[in-house]
Amino acid sequence: MGRIVRLDQNMINMIAAGEVIERPASAVKELMENSIDAGATRVVVAVEDGGRKLISITDNGEGMDAEDLLAAFESHATSKIRQTADLNHIATLGFRGEALASIASIAQVRAVSRTAQSDQAHCLEIDCGDRKPVTPCSGDIGTTIQIRDIFYKTPARRKFLRTANTEMGHITEQFTRIALPKGQLDLVLIHNGRELYHLTGTLRLRQRIAQLFPMLPADDLIDTQTDEKGIRIRALLGHPSTSRTNHRFQYAFLNGRFIRDKFISHAIKEAYRGLLEPNRFPVAFLFIEMPYDEYDVNVHPTKTEVRFYNSNLVHSQILGTMREKLLGTELHMPARLASGPSASLEENRESQRARRQEIADAMADFFQRHRPTHHQQQFDLQADRPAVGPVSGHAERPPAPAAELPEFVFEGPRYLQIHDSYIVAQTDEGFVIIDQHALHEAMLVETLRKRARSGPLESQRLLLPETFEVTEAQADAIENHTDLIVRLGVELAPFGPRTYAIQAFPTLLAKVSPLDFIQDLLDLLISRKAAPSPEEMLDDVLNMTACKAAIKAGQKLTDSEIAQLLADRERYESISRCPHGRPTTLTFSIGELEKQFKRT
Ligand code: ADP
Ligand code: MG
Repeated sequence: MGRIVRLDQNMINMIAAGEVIERPASAVKELMENSIDAGATRVVVAVEDGGRKLISITDNGEGMDAEDLLAAFESHATSKIRQTADLNHIATLGFRGEALASIASIAQVRAVSRTAQSDQAHCLEIDCGDRKPVTPCSGDIGTTIQIRDIFYKTPARRKFLRTANTEMGHITEQFTRIALPKGQLDLVLIHNGRELYHLTGTLRLRQRIAQLFPMLPADDLIDTQTDEKGIRIRALLGHPSTSRTNHRFQYAFLNGRFIRDKFISHAIKEAYRGLLEPNRFPVAFLFIEMPYDEYDVNVHPTKTEVRFYNSNLVHSQILGTMREKLLGTELHMPARLASGPSASLEENRESQRARRQEIADAMADFFQRHRPTHHQQQFDLQADRPAVGPVSGHAERPPAPAAELPEFVFEGPRYLQIHDSYIVAQTDEGFVIIDQHALHEAMLVETLRKRARSGPLESQRLLLPETFEVTEAQADAIENHTDLIVRLGVELAPFGPRTYAIQAFPTLLAKVSPLDFIQDLLDLLISRKAAPSPEEMLDDVLNMTACKAAIKAGQKLTDSEIAQLLADRERYESISRCPHGRPTTLTFSIGELEKQFKRT
Protein backbone atom coordinates (compact mmCIF):
# COMPACT_ATOMS: atom_id res chain seq x y z
CA MET A 1 0.00 0.00 0.00
CA GLY A 2 1.42 3.31 -1.02
CA ARG A 3 4.51 1.53 -2.25
CA ILE A 4 4.09 2.74 -5.78
CA VAL A 5 4.77 6.40 -6.44
CA ARG A 6 4.90 8.44 -9.59
CA LEU A 7 8.52 9.48 -10.27
CA ASP A 8 9.28 13.17 -10.42
CA GLN A 9 10.15 14.69 -13.78
CA ASN A 10 13.86 14.91 -13.15
CA MET A 11 14.02 11.23 -12.24
CA ILE A 12 12.13 10.46 -15.43
CA ASN A 13 14.64 12.48 -17.42
CA MET A 14 17.59 10.80 -15.76
CA ILE A 15 16.16 7.40 -16.57
CA ALA A 16 15.64 8.49 -20.17
CA ALA A 17 19.21 9.78 -20.18
CA GLY A 18 20.32 6.27 -19.32
CA GLU A 19 18.94 5.16 -22.66
CA VAL A 20 20.10 7.99 -24.87
CA ILE A 21 23.19 9.41 -23.21
CA GLU A 22 25.61 6.62 -22.57
CA ARG A 23 28.79 8.68 -22.73
CA PRO A 24 30.05 12.07 -23.98
CA ALA A 25 29.93 10.86 -27.57
CA SER A 26 26.15 10.32 -27.31
CA ALA A 27 25.70 13.95 -26.31
CA VAL A 28 27.87 15.04 -29.24
CA LYS A 29 25.71 12.99 -31.58
CA GLU A 30 22.42 14.39 -30.28
CA LEU A 31 23.64 17.99 -30.34
CA MET A 32 25.13 17.73 -33.83
CA GLU A 33 21.88 16.21 -35.03
CA ASN A 34 19.96 19.11 -33.53
CA SER A 35 22.23 21.61 -35.25
CA ILE A 36 21.71 19.93 -38.60
CA ASP A 37 17.95 19.75 -38.06
CA ALA A 38 18.08 23.49 -37.32
CA GLY A 39 19.44 24.05 -40.82
CA ALA A 40 23.00 24.92 -39.78
CA THR A 41 25.64 25.05 -42.50
CA ARG A 42 28.50 25.20 -40.02
CA VAL A 43 28.91 23.27 -36.78
CA VAL A 44 31.91 23.51 -34.48
CA VAL A 45 32.37 20.80 -31.86
CA ALA A 46 34.91 21.64 -29.17
CA VAL A 47 35.69 19.08 -26.52
CA GLU A 48 37.90 19.04 -23.47
CA ASP A 49 39.28 16.00 -21.71
CA GLY A 50 37.48 13.56 -23.98
CA GLY A 51 34.18 15.35 -23.31
CA ARG A 52 34.29 14.68 -19.59
CA LYS A 53 35.11 18.26 -18.77
CA LEU A 54 33.38 20.09 -21.60
CA ILE A 55 31.43 19.52 -24.76
CA SER A 56 30.59 22.69 -26.62
CA ILE A 57 28.68 22.78 -29.87
CA THR A 58 28.10 25.95 -31.84
CA ASP A 59 25.96 26.18 -34.95
CA ASN A 60 24.68 28.88 -37.27
CA GLY A 61 21.22 27.33 -37.54
CA GLU A 62 17.81 28.94 -37.10
CA GLY A 63 18.22 29.38 -33.33
CA MET A 64 15.52 29.59 -30.69
CA ASP A 65 13.69 32.48 -29.05
CA ALA A 66 13.32 32.72 -25.26
CA GLU A 67 10.12 30.69 -25.17
CA ASP A 68 11.45 27.86 -27.34
CA LEU A 69 14.73 27.80 -25.47
CA LEU A 70 12.86 27.07 -22.28
CA ALA A 71 10.61 24.51 -23.94
CA ALA A 72 13.48 22.75 -25.70
CA PHE A 73 14.72 21.36 -22.38
CA GLU A 74 11.34 19.98 -21.32
CA SER A 75 11.05 16.25 -21.79
CA HIS A 76 9.10 15.05 -24.82
CA ALA A 77 9.29 18.55 -26.25
CA THR A 78 10.02 18.80 -29.94
CA SER A 79 9.33 21.03 -32.89
CA LYS A 80 9.79 18.14 -35.32
CA ILE A 81 6.57 16.19 -35.03
CA ARG A 82 3.06 17.21 -34.03
CA GLN A 83 0.79 14.21 -34.50
CA THR A 84 0.98 10.45 -34.84
CA ALA A 85 0.85 10.56 -38.60
CA ASP A 86 4.12 12.53 -38.62
CA LEU A 87 5.89 9.49 -37.25
CA ASN A 88 5.38 7.78 -40.60
CA HIS A 89 7.64 10.09 -42.56
CA ILE A 90 10.34 11.52 -40.39
CA ALA A 91 12.71 13.65 -42.39
CA THR A 92 14.69 15.09 -39.48
CA LEU A 93 17.45 13.34 -37.54
CA GLY A 94 15.68 13.92 -34.23
CA PHE A 95 12.00 13.62 -33.31
CA ARG A 96 11.81 12.08 -29.83
CA GLY A 97 12.14 15.37 -27.98
CA GLU A 98 14.21 13.75 -25.28
CA ALA A 99 17.85 14.60 -25.89
CA LEU A 100 18.10 18.07 -24.37
CA ALA A 101 16.00 17.18 -21.33
CA SER A 102 18.11 14.08 -20.76
CA ILE A 103 21.39 15.91 -21.12
CA ALA A 104 20.29 18.70 -18.79
CA SER A 105 19.43 16.15 -16.12
CA ILE A 106 22.93 14.71 -15.92
CA ALA A 107 25.29 17.69 -16.39
CA GLN A 108 25.74 21.42 -16.12
CA VAL A 109 24.32 22.89 -19.28
CA ARG A 110 24.47 26.39 -20.67
CA ALA A 111 22.57 27.18 -23.86
CA VAL A 112 22.77 30.43 -25.77
CA SER A 113 20.56 30.90 -28.80
CA ARG A 114 19.41 33.66 -31.12
CA THR A 115 17.07 33.66 -34.09
CA ALA A 116 17.52 35.79 -37.19
CA GLN A 117 14.48 37.85 -36.17
CA SER A 118 15.95 38.87 -32.84
CA ASP A 119 18.78 41.31 -32.20
CA GLN A 120 19.77 39.63 -28.99
CA ALA A 121 20.39 36.13 -27.80
CA HIS A 122 18.95 34.34 -24.77
CA CYS A 123 20.74 32.22 -22.27
CA LEU A 124 19.56 29.32 -20.16
CA GLU A 125 21.53 27.49 -17.48
CA ILE A 126 20.52 24.15 -16.01
CA ASP A 127 22.47 22.22 -13.42
CA CYS A 128 21.40 18.59 -13.36
CA GLY A 129 17.76 19.48 -13.87
CA ASP A 130 17.91 22.59 -11.73
CA ARG A 131 17.11 25.47 -14.06
CA LYS A 132 17.69 29.18 -13.77
CA PRO A 133 15.46 31.68 -15.56
CA VAL A 134 16.14 32.51 -19.19
CA THR A 135 18.06 35.78 -19.48
CA PRO A 136 18.96 37.99 -22.44
CA CYS A 137 22.61 37.94 -23.41
CA SER A 138 24.82 38.64 -26.39
CA GLY A 139 25.36 36.03 -29.08
CA ASP A 140 25.36 35.34 -32.82
CA ILE A 141 22.49 33.90 -34.78
CA GLY A 142 22.38 30.21 -34.09
CA THR A 143 22.86 28.12 -31.00
CA THR A 144 25.69 27.20 -28.65
CA ILE A 145 25.21 24.45 -26.12
CA GLN A 146 27.85 23.72 -23.53
CA ILE A 147 27.85 20.64 -21.35
CA ARG A 148 30.19 20.53 -18.38
CA ASP A 149 31.15 17.68 -16.06
CA ILE A 150 28.85 15.09 -17.51
CA PHE A 151 27.47 12.60 -14.91
CA TYR A 152 29.08 14.53 -12.08
CA LYS A 153 26.14 13.91 -9.78
CA THR A 154 25.86 10.28 -10.78
CA PRO A 155 29.24 8.82 -9.80
CA ALA A 156 28.10 5.34 -10.75
CA ARG A 157 27.77 6.47 -14.37
CA ARG A 158 30.85 8.67 -14.34
CA LYS A 159 32.89 5.71 -13.18
CA PHE A 160 32.15 4.01 -16.47
CA LEU A 161 33.79 6.72 -18.49
CA ARG A 162 37.11 5.70 -19.98
CA THR A 163 40.25 7.75 -20.53
CA ALA A 164 40.07 10.94 -22.53
CA ASN A 165 41.64 9.09 -25.44
CA THR A 166 39.03 6.37 -25.52
CA GLU A 167 36.13 8.78 -25.09
CA MET A 168 37.61 10.88 -27.87
CA GLY A 169 37.65 7.81 -30.08
CA HIS A 170 33.90 7.47 -29.57
CA ILE A 171 33.35 11.15 -30.22
CA THR A 172 35.38 11.01 -33.43
CA GLU A 173 33.29 8.08 -34.55
CA GLN A 174 30.02 9.95 -33.97
CA PHE A 175 31.44 12.99 -35.71
CA THR A 176 32.42 10.79 -38.65
CA ARG A 177 28.98 9.21 -38.90
CA ILE A 178 27.36 12.61 -39.08
CA ALA A 179 29.96 14.18 -41.32
CA LEU A 180 30.11 11.51 -44.03
CA PRO A 181 26.65 11.97 -45.53
CA LYS A 182 26.59 15.75 -44.93
CA GLY A 183 29.05 16.76 -47.57
CA GLN A 184 27.68 20.27 -47.94
CA LEU A 185 28.37 21.28 -44.32
CA ASP A 186 31.40 22.88 -42.69
CA LEU A 187 32.24 20.73 -39.71
CA VAL A 188 35.02 21.21 -37.19
CA LEU A 189 36.13 18.97 -34.35
CA ILE A 190 38.50 20.36 -31.71
CA HIS A 191 39.98 18.50 -28.75
CA ASN A 192 41.77 20.38 -25.95
CA GLY A 193 42.23 23.35 -28.25
CA ARG A 194 43.67 21.27 -31.09
CA GLU A 195 41.76 21.03 -34.36
CA LEU A 196 41.35 17.34 -35.24
CA TYR A 197 39.16 17.75 -38.31
CA HIS A 198 38.08 20.66 -40.39
CA LEU A 199 35.83 19.45 -43.18
CA THR A 200 34.75 22.16 -45.55
CA GLY A 201 31.45 22.05 -47.38
CA THR A 202 33.22 21.99 -50.72
CA LEU A 203 34.89 18.61 -50.21
CA ARG A 204 33.85 15.81 -52.51
CA LEU A 205 32.79 12.57 -50.87
CA ARG A 206 36.03 10.82 -51.71
CA GLN A 207 38.05 13.67 -50.21
CA ARG A 208 35.91 13.59 -47.11
CA ILE A 209 36.57 9.88 -46.74
CA ALA A 210 40.28 10.52 -47.24
CA GLN A 211 40.28 13.10 -44.45
CA LEU A 212 38.26 11.04 -42.03
CA PHE A 213 40.02 7.76 -42.81
CA PRO A 214 43.66 8.49 -43.56
CA MET A 215 44.38 4.77 -43.28
CA LEU A 216 42.19 3.88 -46.26
CA PRO A 217 43.27 4.25 -49.88
CA ALA A 218 40.34 6.56 -50.65
CA ASP A 219 41.50 7.12 -54.23
CA ASP A 220 41.14 3.44 -54.99
CA LEU A 221 37.56 3.09 -53.78
CA ILE A 222 35.30 1.84 -56.53
CA ASP A 223 32.45 4.28 -57.02
CA THR A 224 29.04 3.29 -58.34
CA GLN A 225 25.45 4.41 -58.18
CA THR A 226 21.98 3.26 -59.15
CA ASP A 227 18.50 4.70 -58.95
CA GLU A 228 15.85 2.03 -59.39
CA LYS A 229 12.57 0.98 -57.84
CA GLY A 230 12.45 4.06 -55.63
CA ILE A 231 15.83 3.39 -54.04
CA ARG A 232 18.82 5.51 -54.89
CA ILE A 233 22.17 4.02 -53.92
CA ARG A 234 25.68 5.39 -54.06
CA ALA A 235 28.42 3.00 -53.05
CA LEU A 236 32.14 3.46 -52.58
CA LEU A 237 33.67 0.05 -52.37
CA GLY A 238 37.08 -1.11 -51.24
CA HIS A 239 39.25 -3.29 -53.44
CA PRO A 240 39.19 -6.86 -52.06
CA SER A 241 42.86 -6.54 -51.16
CA THR A 242 42.01 -3.77 -48.69
CA SER A 243 39.67 -6.02 -46.72
CA ARG A 244 39.76 -6.03 -42.95
CA THR A 245 39.43 -8.42 -40.06
CA ASN A 246 36.21 -6.77 -38.87
CA HIS A 247 33.37 -4.67 -40.26
CA ARG A 248 34.80 -1.47 -38.80
CA PHE A 249 34.96 0.13 -42.24
CA GLN A 250 31.43 -0.60 -43.34
CA TYR A 251 29.18 2.41 -43.16
CA ALA A 252 25.57 2.60 -44.29
CA PHE A 253 23.52 5.78 -44.34
CA LEU A 254 19.81 6.01 -44.93
CA ASN A 255 18.65 9.46 -45.98
CA GLY A 256 21.67 10.96 -44.22
CA ARG A 257 21.30 8.94 -41.04
CA PHE A 258 23.92 6.40 -40.01
CA ILE A 259 22.27 3.03 -39.52
CA ARG A 260 23.17 -0.51 -38.66
CA ASP A 261 21.12 -3.09 -40.40
CA LYS A 262 21.50 -6.82 -40.75
CA PHE A 263 20.01 -6.92 -44.24
CA ILE A 264 22.49 -4.34 -45.44
CA SER A 265 25.43 -6.10 -43.78
CA HIS A 266 24.35 -9.32 -45.40
CA ALA A 267 24.04 -7.71 -48.82
CA ILE A 268 27.59 -6.30 -48.50
CA LYS A 269 28.95 -9.70 -47.56
CA GLU A 270 27.14 -11.40 -50.41
CA ALA A 271 28.36 -8.86 -52.93
CA TYR A 272 31.98 -9.81 -52.17
CA ARG A 273 31.29 -13.53 -52.20
CA GLY A 274 34.17 -15.31 -53.89
CA LEU A 275 36.31 -12.19 -53.83
CA LEU A 276 37.30 -12.49 -50.19
CA GLU A 277 38.26 -15.14 -47.68
CA PRO A 278 35.23 -15.95 -45.53
CA ASN A 279 36.64 -14.26 -42.43
CA ARG A 280 37.53 -10.97 -44.16
CA PHE A 281 35.33 -7.88 -44.31
CA PRO A 282 35.33 -5.43 -47.20
CA VAL A 283 35.55 -1.68 -46.89
CA ALA A 284 32.23 -0.22 -48.05
CA PHE A 285 30.43 3.10 -47.79
CA LEU A 286 26.77 3.02 -48.78
CA PHE A 287 24.50 6.02 -49.11
CA ILE A 288 20.89 5.01 -49.57
CA GLU A 289 18.03 7.35 -50.29
CA MET A 290 14.42 6.28 -50.32
CA PRO A 291 11.02 7.70 -49.36
CA TYR A 292 10.65 8.36 -45.62
CA ASP A 293 7.46 6.38 -45.41
CA GLU A 294 9.11 3.14 -46.52
CA TYR A 295 10.76 2.49 -43.18
CA ASP A 296 10.29 3.17 -39.48
CA VAL A 297 13.03 4.91 -37.47
CA ASN A 298 11.10 4.78 -34.26
CA VAL A 299 12.43 1.40 -33.19
CA HIS A 300 15.54 2.28 -31.20
CA PRO A 301 16.29 5.09 -28.71
CA THR A 302 19.45 6.17 -30.50
CA LYS A 303 17.78 5.81 -33.90
CA THR A 304 20.61 3.74 -35.38
CA GLU A 305 18.27 0.91 -36.27
CA VAL A 306 15.35 1.13 -38.64
CA ARG A 307 12.69 -1.26 -39.84
CA PHE A 308 12.30 -1.45 -43.60
CA TYR A 309 8.82 -2.25 -44.81
CA ASN A 310 10.32 -4.06 -47.77
CA SER A 311 13.68 -5.29 -46.57
CA ASN A 312 14.01 -7.81 -49.38
CA LEU A 313 13.89 -5.04 -51.95
CA VAL A 314 16.50 -3.01 -50.07
CA HIS A 315 18.69 -6.10 -49.83
CA SER A 316 18.42 -6.99 -53.48
CA GLN A 317 18.98 -3.43 -54.69
CA ILE A 318 22.15 -3.07 -52.63
CA LEU A 319 23.43 -6.50 -53.56
CA GLY A 320 22.66 -5.92 -57.23
CA THR A 321 24.33 -2.51 -57.35
CA MET A 322 27.48 -3.72 -55.63
CA ARG A 323 27.76 -7.09 -57.30
CA GLU A 324 27.34 -5.72 -60.78
CA LYS A 325 30.03 -3.12 -60.23
CA LEU A 326 32.47 -5.51 -58.57
CA LEU A 327 32.10 -8.13 -61.27
CA GLY A 328 32.48 -5.50 -63.96
CA THR A 329 35.70 -4.13 -62.47
CA GLU A 330 39.16 -5.47 -63.18
CA LEU A 331 40.05 -6.58 -59.66
CA HIS A 332 43.11 -8.67 -60.36
CA MET A 333 45.51 -5.78 -60.28
CA PRO A 334 46.64 -5.35 -56.70
CA ALA A 335 45.47 -2.09 -55.23
CA ARG A 336 48.17 0.49 -54.75
CA LEU A 337 47.97 0.37 -51.01
CA ALA A 338 46.97 -2.99 -49.75
CA SER A 339 46.76 -3.47 -46.04
CA GLY A 340 46.58 -6.36 -43.66
CA PRO A 341 47.88 -9.80 -44.41
CA SER A 342 46.21 -9.75 -47.79
CA ALA A 343 47.07 -11.91 -50.73
CA SER A 344 48.83 -9.19 -52.64
CA LEU A 345 51.11 -8.31 -49.75
CA GLU A 346 51.97 -11.93 -49.32
CA GLU A 347 52.66 -12.20 -53.02
CA ASN A 348 54.83 -9.15 -52.79
CA ARG A 349 56.85 -10.58 -49.98
CA GLU A 350 57.06 -13.86 -51.82
CA SER A 351 58.36 -12.23 -54.97
CA GLN A 352 60.84 -10.17 -52.98
CA ARG A 353 62.06 -13.28 -51.29
CA ALA A 354 62.37 -15.04 -54.63
CA ARG A 355 64.32 -12.11 -56.04
CA ARG A 356 66.68 -12.00 -53.12
CA GLN A 357 67.16 -15.71 -53.48
CA GLU A 358 68.06 -15.27 -57.15
CA ILE A 359 70.65 -12.67 -56.28
CA ALA A 360 72.01 -14.84 -53.48
CA ASP A 361 72.25 -17.83 -55.80
CA ALA A 362 73.98 -15.81 -58.47
CA MET A 363 76.49 -14.50 -55.97
CA ALA A 364 77.06 -17.91 -54.45
CA ASP A 365 77.65 -19.22 -57.94
CA PHE A 366 80.14 -16.46 -58.61
CA PHE A 367 82.07 -17.11 -55.42
CA GLN A 368 82.08 -20.84 -56.01
CA ARG A 369 83.78 -20.30 -59.32
CA HIS A 370 86.07 -17.44 -58.42
CA ARG A 371 86.87 -17.61 -54.72
CA PRO A 372 86.39 -21.19 -53.82
CA THR A 373 87.35 -21.09 -50.14
CA HIS A 374 85.39 -18.09 -49.13
CA HIS A 375 81.70 -18.09 -48.52
CA GLN A 376 80.00 -14.73 -48.72
CA GLN A 377 76.72 -13.85 -47.03
CA GLN A 378 73.95 -11.62 -48.21
CA PHE A 379 71.16 -12.39 -45.83
CA ASP A 380 70.09 -10.67 -42.74
CA LEU A 381 68.17 -12.51 -40.13
CA GLN A 382 67.76 -9.52 -37.94
CA ALA A 383 65.96 -6.47 -39.08
CA ASP A 384 68.16 -4.13 -37.11
CA ARG A 385 71.42 -4.05 -38.94
CA PRO A 386 72.82 -4.44 -42.42
CA ALA A 387 73.83 -7.87 -43.61
CA VAL A 388 77.50 -8.38 -42.94
CA GLY A 389 80.28 -10.75 -42.32
CA PRO A 390 81.61 -14.06 -43.43
CA VAL A 391 80.68 -17.29 -41.71
CA SER A 392 82.19 -18.08 -38.39
CA GLY A 393 84.68 -20.88 -38.61
CA HIS A 394 85.66 -19.69 -42.05
CA ALA A 395 86.24 -16.15 -40.97
CA GLU A 396 89.62 -16.65 -39.40
CA ARG A 397 91.03 -17.93 -42.65
CA PRO A 398 91.91 -15.01 -44.87
CA PRO A 399 90.90 -15.64 -48.44
CA ALA A 400 93.93 -16.93 -50.30
CA PRO A 401 94.86 -15.18 -53.50
CA ALA A 402 92.93 -16.85 -56.28
CA ALA A 403 96.02 -17.58 -58.33
CA GLU A 404 97.50 -19.88 -55.69
CA LEU A 405 94.44 -22.03 -55.46
CA PRO A 406 94.09 -25.29 -57.29
CA GLU A 407 91.29 -25.10 -59.78
CA PHE A 408 87.79 -26.46 -59.00
CA VAL A 409 88.40 -26.77 -55.27
CA PHE A 410 85.21 -25.79 -53.51
CA GLU A 411 84.89 -25.99 -49.82
CA GLY A 412 81.14 -26.06 -49.23
CA PRO A 413 79.47 -24.82 -46.09
CA ARG A 414 80.26 -26.87 -43.02
CA TYR A 415 76.74 -26.97 -41.77
CA LEU A 416 73.47 -28.61 -42.57
CA GLN A 417 69.86 -28.00 -41.68
CA ILE A 418 67.96 -31.12 -40.68
CA HIS A 419 64.20 -31.55 -40.35
CA ASP A 420 63.93 -27.85 -41.15
CA SER A 421 64.45 -27.22 -37.46
CA TYR A 422 68.00 -28.01 -36.40
CA ILE A 423 71.36 -26.96 -37.71
CA VAL A 424 74.33 -29.24 -37.48
CA ALA A 425 77.56 -27.27 -37.76
CA GLN A 426 81.22 -28.22 -37.64
CA THR A 427 83.36 -26.50 -35.01
CA ASP A 428 87.08 -26.66 -34.33
CA GLU A 429 86.48 -29.08 -31.45
CA GLY A 430 83.82 -31.21 -33.04
CA PHE A 431 80.29 -30.19 -33.96
CA VAL A 432 77.17 -28.58 -32.54
CA ILE A 433 73.46 -29.15 -33.02
CA ILE A 434 71.51 -25.96 -32.80
CA ASP A 435 67.80 -25.51 -32.26
CA GLN A 436 67.24 -22.75 -34.81
CA HIS A 437 64.19 -21.26 -33.10
CA ALA A 438 65.68 -21.34 -29.60
CA LEU A 439 68.96 -19.79 -30.72
CA HIS A 440 67.39 -16.99 -32.72
CA GLU A 441 64.96 -16.31 -29.89
CA ALA A 442 67.76 -16.09 -27.34
CA MET A 443 69.68 -13.66 -29.53
CA LEU A 444 66.63 -11.51 -30.12
CA VAL A 445 65.82 -11.35 -26.43
CA GLU A 446 69.33 -10.14 -25.69
CA THR A 447 69.13 -7.47 -28.37
CA LEU A 448 65.66 -6.38 -27.27
CA ARG A 449 66.67 -6.11 -23.62
CA LYS A 450 69.74 -4.09 -24.46
CA ARG A 451 67.78 -1.71 -26.65
CA ALA A 452 64.83 -1.38 -24.29
CA ARG A 453 67.16 -0.43 -21.44
CA SER A 454 68.28 2.68 -23.26
CA GLY A 455 64.83 4.02 -24.16
CA PRO A 456 61.91 3.11 -26.40
CA LEU A 457 62.66 0.63 -29.17
CA GLU A 458 63.23 2.24 -32.51
CA SER A 459 60.00 2.25 -34.47
CA GLN A 460 58.67 2.94 -37.88
CA ARG A 461 55.38 4.56 -38.87
CA LEU A 462 53.03 2.28 -40.76
CA LEU A 463 52.13 3.50 -44.19
CA LEU A 464 48.59 2.35 -43.61
CA PRO A 465 47.74 2.14 -39.91
CA GLU A 466 46.06 -1.18 -39.11
CA THR A 467 42.91 -0.94 -37.02
CA PHE A 468 41.57 -3.49 -34.62
CA GLU A 469 38.66 -3.81 -32.25
CA VAL A 470 39.19 -4.37 -28.56
CA THR A 471 37.18 -5.84 -25.74
CA GLU A 472 36.69 -3.85 -22.54
CA ALA A 473 39.49 -5.85 -20.94
CA GLN A 474 41.82 -5.14 -23.83
CA ALA A 475 40.97 -1.43 -23.76
CA ASP A 476 41.81 -1.44 -20.04
CA ALA A 477 45.08 -3.24 -20.74
CA ILE A 478 46.05 -0.61 -23.29
CA GLU A 479 45.19 2.21 -20.94
CA ASN A 480 46.97 0.65 -17.98
CA HIS A 481 50.18 -0.08 -19.87
CA THR A 482 50.71 3.01 -21.97
CA ASP A 483 54.33 3.37 -20.75
CA LEU A 484 55.17 -0.17 -21.63
CA ILE A 485 53.60 0.10 -25.05
CA VAL A 486 55.59 3.25 -25.74
CA ARG A 487 58.79 1.52 -24.64
CA LEU A 488 58.13 -1.22 -27.14
CA GLY A 489 58.08 1.35 -29.92
CA VAL A 490 54.42 0.69 -30.59
CA GLU A 491 52.07 3.60 -31.13
CA LEU A 492 48.36 2.96 -30.68
CA ALA A 493 45.78 5.66 -31.27
CA PRO A 494 42.11 5.35 -30.40
CA PHE A 495 40.01 5.15 -33.51
CA GLY A 496 36.30 5.02 -32.97
CA PRO A 497 34.51 3.06 -30.29
CA ARG A 498 36.50 0.12 -29.05
CA THR A 499 38.83 0.50 -31.97
CA TYR A 500 42.49 1.36 -32.10
CA ALA A 501 44.87 2.03 -34.96
CA ILE A 502 48.46 0.82 -34.94
CA GLN A 503 50.37 3.88 -36.12
CA ALA A 504 53.93 2.82 -35.49
CA PHE A 505 55.66 -0.51 -34.96
CA PRO A 506 59.17 -1.51 -33.85
CA THR A 507 61.65 -1.86 -36.71
CA LEU A 508 63.13 -4.93 -35.05
CA LEU A 509 59.84 -6.70 -35.67
CA ALA A 510 59.64 -5.83 -39.33
CA LYS A 511 58.78 -9.42 -40.19
CA VAL A 512 55.99 -9.79 -37.65
CA SER A 513 52.36 -8.97 -38.44
CA PRO A 514 51.49 -5.92 -36.31
CA LEU A 515 47.93 -7.12 -35.72
CA ASP A 516 49.04 -10.57 -34.56
CA PHE A 517 51.63 -9.06 -32.33
CA ILE A 518 49.24 -6.63 -30.67
CA GLN A 519 46.69 -9.37 -30.06
CA ASP A 520 49.32 -11.50 -28.33
CA LEU A 521 50.60 -8.52 -26.42
CA LEU A 522 47.12 -7.73 -25.11
CA ASP A 523 46.51 -11.35 -24.19
CA LEU A 524 49.73 -11.33 -22.23
CA LEU A 525 48.99 -8.03 -20.49
CA ILE A 526 45.56 -9.27 -19.48
CA SER A 527 46.82 -12.63 -18.26
CA ARG A 528 49.58 -11.02 -16.17
CA LYS A 529 47.33 -8.53 -14.40
CA ALA A 530 49.16 -8.91 -11.11
CA ALA A 531 52.64 -8.45 -12.51
CA PRO A 532 54.90 -7.52 -9.60
CA SER A 533 56.83 -4.74 -11.31
CA PRO A 534 56.86 -2.89 -14.62
CA GLU A 535 60.37 -4.26 -15.28
CA GLU A 536 59.19 -7.83 -14.89
CA MET A 537 56.26 -7.11 -17.13
CA LEU A 538 58.58 -5.64 -19.72
CA ASP A 539 60.76 -8.73 -19.50
CA ASP A 540 57.77 -10.97 -20.09
CA VAL A 541 56.72 -8.90 -23.03
CA LEU A 542 60.19 -8.91 -24.55
CA ASN A 543 60.35 -12.69 -24.21
CA MET A 544 57.04 -13.01 -25.96
CA THR A 545 58.21 -10.57 -28.62
CA ALA A 546 61.39 -12.51 -29.31
CA CYS A 547 59.46 -15.73 -29.54
CA LYS A 548 57.12 -14.24 -32.12
CA ALA A 549 59.86 -12.63 -34.16
CA ALA A 550 62.25 -15.58 -34.15
CA ILE A 551 62.73 -18.06 -36.95
CA LYS A 552 60.32 -20.91 -36.41
CA ALA A 553 60.96 -24.60 -36.07
CA GLY A 554 59.98 -26.20 -39.34
CA GLN A 555 61.09 -23.20 -41.36
CA LYS A 556 63.41 -24.03 -44.20
CA LEU A 557 66.46 -21.78 -44.21
CA THR A 558 68.75 -20.99 -47.10
CA ASP A 559 72.48 -21.64 -46.73
CA SER A 560 73.07 -17.95 -46.40
CA GLU A 561 70.48 -17.58 -43.67
CA ILE A 562 72.05 -20.42 -41.73
CA ALA A 563 75.48 -18.90 -42.19
CA GLN A 564 74.19 -15.59 -40.90
CA LEU A 565 72.65 -17.22 -37.86
CA LEU A 566 75.95 -18.90 -37.07
CA ALA A 567 77.90 -15.70 -37.59
CA ASP A 568 75.55 -13.74 -35.35
CA ARG A 569 75.87 -16.39 -32.69
CA GLU A 570 79.46 -15.34 -32.11
CA ARG A 571 78.40 -11.86 -31.08
CA TYR A 572 76.18 -12.84 -28.18
CA GLU A 573 76.97 -13.73 -24.60
CA SER A 574 74.16 -15.50 -22.79
CA ILE A 575 72.54 -17.51 -25.49
CA SER A 576 73.16 -21.02 -24.32
CA ARG A 577 69.53 -21.14 -23.28
CA CYS A 578 66.40 -19.67 -24.79
CA PRO A 579 64.16 -17.46 -22.62
CA HIS A 580 62.09 -20.51 -21.69
CA GLY A 581 65.20 -22.16 -20.29
CA ARG A 582 65.68 -24.71 -23.03
CA PRO A 583 69.19 -25.20 -24.37
CA THR A 584 69.86 -23.63 -27.73
CA THR A 585 72.91 -25.72 -28.59
CA LEU A 586 74.17 -29.22 -27.96
CA THR A 587 77.96 -29.59 -28.24
CA PHE A 588 79.77 -32.74 -29.33
CA SER A 589 83.54 -33.06 -29.27
CA ILE A 590 85.59 -34.89 -31.82
CA GLY A 591 86.92 -36.97 -28.91
CA GLU A 592 83.43 -38.21 -28.11
CA LEU A 593 82.85 -39.10 -31.73
CA GLU A 594 86.07 -41.00 -31.91
CA LYS A 595 85.19 -42.86 -28.74
CA GLN A 596 81.79 -43.81 -30.14
CA PHE A 597 83.37 -45.09 -33.32
CA LYS A 598 85.95 -46.96 -31.32
CA ARG A 599 88.74 -45.00 -32.92
CA THR A 600 90.50 -44.54 -29.61
P1 ADP B 1 14.37 16.53 -30.87
O1 ADP B 1 15.62 16.83 -31.60
O2 ADP B 1 14.06 15.09 -30.88
O3 ADP B 1 13.24 17.37 -31.27
P2 ADP B 1 15.78 17.58 -28.61
O4 ADP B 1 15.58 17.41 -27.15
O5 ADP B 1 17.05 17.17 -29.16
O6 ADP B 1 14.60 16.83 -29.31
O7 ADP B 1 15.52 19.09 -28.96
C1 ADP B 1 14.30 19.70 -28.59
C2 ADP B 1 13.97 20.85 -29.51
O8 ADP B 1 14.85 21.92 -29.28
C3 ADP B 1 14.10 20.55 -30.98
O9 ADP B 1 12.91 19.96 -31.48
C4 ADP B 1 14.36 21.92 -31.58
O10 ADP B 1 13.17 22.60 -31.84
C5 ADP B 1 15.09 22.63 -30.46
N1 ADP B 1 16.54 22.65 -30.70
C6 ADP B 1 17.43 21.83 -30.17
N2 ADP B 1 18.68 22.13 -30.57
C7 ADP B 1 18.57 23.17 -31.40
C8 ADP B 1 19.50 23.94 -32.17
N3 ADP B 1 20.81 23.68 -32.16
N4 ADP B 1 19.02 24.95 -32.91
C9 ADP B 1 17.70 25.24 -32.93
N5 ADP B 1 16.79 24.53 -32.24
C10 ADP B 1 17.19 23.53 -31.48
MG1 MG C 1 17.46 16.14 -31.00
